[in-house]
Amino acid sequence: MAISIDKSKPVLVTGATGYVAGWLVKRLLDEGVTVHAAVRNPDKTEKIQHLDEIASNSPGEIKYFKADLLQEGSYAEAMKDCELVYHTASPFFTDVKDPQKQLIDPAVKGTSNVLEQANKTESVKRVVVTSSCAAIYTDASECKSYPNGELTEEIWNKTASLKYQPYSYSKTLAEQKAWDIAGTQNRWDLVCINPSFVMGPALNPKVATSESVTILKQMGDGTFKQGAPKMSVGVVDVRDLGEAHFRAGYTPEANGRNIASAHNTNFFEMGKILHGKFGNDYALPSKAAPKWLIWLMGPMINKALTRRFVSNNIGHDWKANNTKIKNELGMQFRPLNETMQDAFQALIDAKVV
Ligand code: NAP
Repeated sequence: MAISIDKSKPVLVTGATGYVAGWLVKRLLDEGVTVHAAVRNPDKTEKIQHLDEIASNSPGEIKYFKADLLQEGSYAEAMKDCELVYHTASPFFTDVKDPQKQLIDPAVKGTSNVLEQANKTESVKRVVVTSSCAAIYTDASECKSYPNGELTEEIWNKTASLKYQPYSYSKTLAEQKAWDIAGTQNRWDLVCINPSFVMGPALNPKVATSESVTILKQMGDGTFKQGAPKMSVGVVDVRDLGEAHFRAGYTPEANGRNIASAHNTNFFEMGKILHGKFGNDYALPSKAAPKWLIWLMGPMINKALTRRFVSNNIGHDWKANNTKIKNELGMQFRPLNETMQDAFQALIDAKVV
């Protein structure tokens, strides 16, 4: 069904403090929209300062609402009068002790909490959920088992679990939950955005919690000085992703899942771009680390770099089909050089590397 959203109505963004959400909030404010920003703690000024600055230079308005994914009913006030709801909030980090508590519960219960609230809020016409390519696959080695060796919107992740890549599991369960809840009613429609690994400049580099920013910082702090892994990933620019979310909300015919991925690359290629521009001043990777070395050292660098993960993701081609988002939402993507260089420059400007 085609859904038309009135730009004079407020729009809810959950997890507005986040790396991805920041650029969406900016896009909405630039358009003159009133943003209901749901945040865990509106009193933590350092987490929302960048949004206030953007709002003060744009035609839109921002209003903060205190809400927590795990507190039932806590999005009610923020959702009042909204026709459009963006659900971006979900933890994205891999250094976890208790994956059920730290990843799965906030992702899945949070999705229920927000979408059940949409069921109770008569004004809601569309919900856009930030899912992930992680809800499509766990390991790059899976790509070759699909036609043309590429991931598509039809594919669901069947390999992640509580024990193996629990972040991917949390995104898979959360998106499934979203489709289940959407299917119980017909007042609002659900559109999912499925980004690959997000890169590009953070609006809040000093307080960013996203794994994207953590890995970018690691590229600059010497972690990969002996070489970066040829770990295959897709990459999308955070600014393009903000635009994709905006279009998913306001394009009447937007529908279903939408892979948001611009480049099929790997961490070594990404590091090499940075080394080319900033290599004189920072300990950026200039060579590829051999697979055996990452296999040995990986678990010490990052908990998610288990030996199984290294075996299944280094030296395998990663490929996703982004035709749908280009054709249906008219998306175009920035070159990878621009994404990587702007991302690192933002860390330099904020003095966090
Ligand atoms: P992020 O900067 O860490 O943002 C996560 C957001 O979720 C923060 O605003 C955080 O709020 C909020 N949040 C976490 N737990 C919460 C809770 N219990 N209650 C309320 N809010 C909570 O990470 P991000 O990279 O922007 O991720 C945003 C979304 O994009 C997530 O859904 C993620 O799965 C998805 N995604 C990210 C990538 C990527 O490469 N970055 C790729 C695909 C999909 P606080 O500020 O209060 O912690």
